[in-house]
Amino acid sequence: MNKIIELENKYHIQTYGRFPVVFVKGKKQYLFDHKGKKYLDFLSGLGVTSIGHSNQAVIKAVENQLEKLTHVSNLFYTEPQAMLAKKLVEISIKNGQVFFANSGAEANEAAVKLVRRWAKIGGRAKPEIITAYNSFHGRTLKMLAATGQPEKQKPFEPLPPGFKHVEFNDIKALKKAITSQTAAVMLEVIQGEGGVYPADKKYLKDVGALCKQKKMLLIFDEVQTGLARTGKLFAYENYEVKPDILTVAKALGNGFPIGACIASKKVTSVFKKGEHGSTFGGGPIPCSAALAVLNFMQKKKLSKKAADIGKYLKALINDELGDHIEEIRGLGLMIGIKTKKKIASKVTNKALEKGLIVNNIGEQTVRLLPPLIIGKKDCKKAVIILKKVFREIG
Ligand SMILES: *Cc1c(COP(=O)(O)O)cnc(C)c1O
Repeated sequence: MNKIIELENKYHIQTYGRFPVVFVKGKKQYLFDHKGKKYLDFLSGLGVTSIGHSNQAVIKAVENQLEKLTHVSNLFYTEPQAMLAKKLVEISIKNGQVFFANSGAEANEAAVKLVRRWAKIGGRAKPEIITAYNSFHGRTLKMLAATGQPEKQKPFEPLPPGFKHVEFNDIKALKKAITSQTAAVMLEVIQGEGGVYPADKKYLKDVGALCKQKKMLLIFDEVQTGLARTGKLFAYENYEVKPDILTVAKALGNGFPIGACIASKKVTSVFKKGEHGSTFGGGPIPCSAALAVLNFMQKKKLSKKAADIGKYLKALINDELGDHIEEIRGLGLMIGIKTKKKIASKVTNKALEKGLIVNNIGEQTVRLLPPLIIGKKDCKKAVIILKKVFREIG
């Protein structure tokens, strides 16, 4: 066995089901393993390296920042953090404010803490948040409680209270679940880890109206859908509704760990100094990386590109793989392919052998999250590999 894999097996806690590949290098849409084998990356490290591996704009920004300043804590001001906060607000919740965290789960934690303070000040003593079944909001205990997947929760009970789950895309179920203590509804615009299930247009609009009517906050967890992935900078722009609180993370740093919780000032003003914080959150390095990412996305018009290439890729999948698949879900370059047979993990493994990286969610969904810089040629290459894979599995 490979030495690295041996070491990991012995010394790392065995909580990841890993593929037997050791990667050593990445460039744009390609990854290279320790033997020099080249892979076409249609997963982007789970929607993270959206602007490609070893992106030169990010490298330059980070190198430049590394030479100047790495860390001072949030006891002081730094330029990259202030500049990134301004930029994020300008592109999302205008007149809002940002809190920086180190991950998606932590950005969501900030959102939930904000809701609880806001609700208590507003007179709800035991604030409750409604989330959807089949959702995914992170791995901290509170976010596990928010995640509507009982099989993930069971091994870790007792979980923190304050969350209730309802069927996704079912406005009646949501209406029924609301009590006088319900302070917010938290949803993914497209359920990612749950299998790439988009919210219905009417449902999301109705949720927005219901939140206004019942004086509840609407949180969109755009940790996976955010930042050009779905053909818009944020997935909610594909819908007719805006959130009060928005969380992003995965693609924000193109690999540098950073998460952000953005909310309107009527909500953020409830936090007093010292009520929330992070040692590393919003440090100069991840913030300089994120600024480079957002500038690159805008300069290269990656939202539009994701929309156009996404359409092209879906049509290609439909034409070439139609015999093997039942449904194609998703928006832009966030795509879930439902296979006819229960072979999704076999497809993932065989594709990897042939130099294409995808992943599977359960046994009937193959998920594609390619970098947003891919072109038609890459789509053709990927679909040719998938066609061979399906033919071999039979
Ligand atoms: C990945 C993900 C998270 C968790 O992000 P981490 O950075 O792993 O904590 C939360 N919400 C959604 C929608 C995600 O896809």
